[in-house]
Amino acid sequence: AKDAGGNQSVFFDARMGQWVAERFSLEQDLRRGIEAGELRLYLQPQVDAHGRMVSAEALVRWQHPQRGLMGPVQFIGLAEESGLIEPLGQWVLEQACAWLGRLRTLGRPLPISVNISPHQFHQADFSQRLQQVLQRHEASGDDLMLEFTEGVVLRQVEQVIERMGFLSGLGVRFSIDDFGTGYSSLSYLKTLPIHELKIDRSFVQDAPHNPGDAALVAAMLSVASLMQLRVVAEGVETEEQAAVFRRHPGALMQGYLFGRPEPAEALLARWLSAGEA
Ligand code: C2E
Ligand code: CA
Ligand code: CA
Ligand code: CA
Repeated sequence: AKDAGGNQSVFFDARMGQWVAERFSLEQDLRRGIEAGELRLYLQPQVDAHGRMVSAEALVRWQHPQRGLMGPVQFIGLAEESGLIEPLGQWVLEQACAWLGRLRTLGRPLPISVNISPHQFHQADFSQRLQQVLQRHEASGDDLMLEFTEGVVLRQVEQVIERMGFLSGLGVRFSIDDFGTGYSSLSYLKTLPIHELKIDRSFVQDAPHNPGDAALVAAMLSVASLMQLRVVAEGVETEEQAAVFRRHPGALMQGYLFGRPEPAEALLARWLSAGEA
């Protein structure tokens, strides 16, 4: 038994070592990859009850030279822990604002939502840098929505209020991502300038069949409407799920039923040429 235990722990240590090495090399790759222009901006449409695109969410991808196209779940955590989320997040904001500027110049503005990670938002100069990015690209803050999870806005509340106030002055709006998953009080909805709630996919998926999820979705829709917040249902994949939200005036939807995330150039080329997506 003693032997077996020993072997087990050697095995475990070897695997740990491998994992640490793997992670370290991925971090080096990401550092280099950001510099080398390997990140890609993808966009997913957000549509109204008639299926018309009214805005889009920016979702980052990484075109790794050996591993291929990687989704954010494979590298965002690593980026946050290593500090690389700052250059990564800055790149995404830069790209999104460059498109906002272009779209406005071409007379076809389209609001874009950008995910902001905790470390990124709590950077000392976040607001000033964002203001500079908007100016550099002649983009209007009115076209930019920032998505945060509840965890971000519930820490350092004074600073969050101050920052959101400053950015609101530029027209920038704020969305609560994965709404309903945070187990937190909703009082921040009174104190912060929030404009939108995104109902998490986990509720959307089962709303047509599970009475519990249906009740929670109804509660979230009613909070949104009472507080005059825009609401987006995430991860709508079926007509049945869409039907739940089409009944609610103003509710927007995002999900594979209406369009998968795709390279920004492709989606926006259609938006610019056909007048729709
Ligand atoms: P999220 O903000 O909750 O984004 C929605 C995720 O659901 C996206 O995954 C999207 O591709 C996926 N999705 C959309 N519609 C459907 C659907 O109908 N069914 C299913 N099953 N999934 C759907 P993705 O692109 O892999 O992004 C994962 C997460 O990574 C995002 O979750 C977001 O938290 C984070 N992320 C993405 N881009 C960025 C970024 O630029 N910065 C930061 N900080 N985080 C990002
Ligand atoms: Ca999001
Ligand atoms: Ca989300
Ligand atoms: Ca989600």
